[in-house]
Amino acid sequence: MIVMDLEWNSGRYGGRLNEILQIGAVKMDHLGGRVLDTFCAYIRPRVHKTLSPAAAALPELALAQKSPLSFPEAMEQFRLWWGEDREFAIWGTADLMVLAENLRYWSLTNCLPDHFYDLQAAFAIAASSANSPALEPAVDYCGIPETFDFHNALYDSLYTALVGSCLKAEEVAAVRRVPGEPARKEKVVTRLGLPIKKNGVWLGPFESTEAALNSRSSRRGECPACSRPVRTSVWYSDDGQIFYAPLSCPTHGPYILRLETALDKRKRLWIFPEVGRTTSANQALLEMAMAGSTWQCTALHTGSRSRRKRRRKKTDAPEESEES
Ligand SMILES: [Zn+2]
Repeated sequence: MIVMDLEWNSGRYGGRLNEILQIGAVKMDHLGGRVLDTFCAYIRPRVHKTLSPAAAALPELALAQKSPLSFPEAMEQFRLWWGEDREFAIWGTADLMVLAENLRYWSLTNCLPDHFYDLQAAFAIAASSANSPALEPAVDYCGIPETFDFHNALYDSLYTALVGSCLKAEEVAAVRRVPGEPARKEKVVTRLGLPIKKNGVWLGPFESTEAALNSRSSRRGECPACSRPVRTSVWYSDDGQIFYAPLSCPTHGPYILRLETALDKRKRLWIFPEVGRTTSANQALLEMAMAGSTWQCTALHTGSRSRRKRRRKKTDAPEESEES
């Protein structure tokens, strides 16, 4: 099993080519097995004279810029290194597409495997995530120590292999992909069985989990039947990442507000609120969360309330009974 990762530069203005700057890979006897060997090649850029923001932020950019290797030379080394192994695992589908794009650009024969395993999709299944999770939060989720910098192709391929080791065989088998073939449109199953009404898009970024849980926008869940806005004052979570709150419409009765949280590449926190009906499956998820931790929200009108408090404190001052 070859676990591969690439870093590339699209140039400041995009266009022509996603020019590969680094190829990193680890060879394992099988996913979850021993790491047998590693591969790392930095590639001197020849196409783009400018850098995309993502490429400019690469920690080892200078090593690519100083590298003696061209893409065809690095690719030849890579192909010799992987040898007979035809099983590839990759985080997402972009890397293999970019590799094929670079092979075409340099008029090299396409030596890529006829299938690969998309571990990002497998992780999304395992973590019941509706979106495509980034590698960094996935590493964090699996409790893997963050020993190396991210956004280095070799280290990212190692992290991908380690996340892959946390996955079940059937989760990996479910994400076998053929390059170039559009990913099968699988129905996304969120933990909240039936999302009735999404409150919109990802909101954020927030400074902290506390700030996200206290925000007016996260606490608001409209009744699925009449859209009447109701706000929660308490959250429950058994994993610290997905939060649930029981809400109730005076006309249509109880329903559930679910808040998914995620970190982006810059470790900024985003939230995705949605509501669902109180089905038995959803009720079970809520009860699991309620058996976990409870977050009590702060009062919504803290400004005027603290002013009132201060005033009251002034008039109470002569007694000084609370001071000690
Ligand atoms: Zn209602």
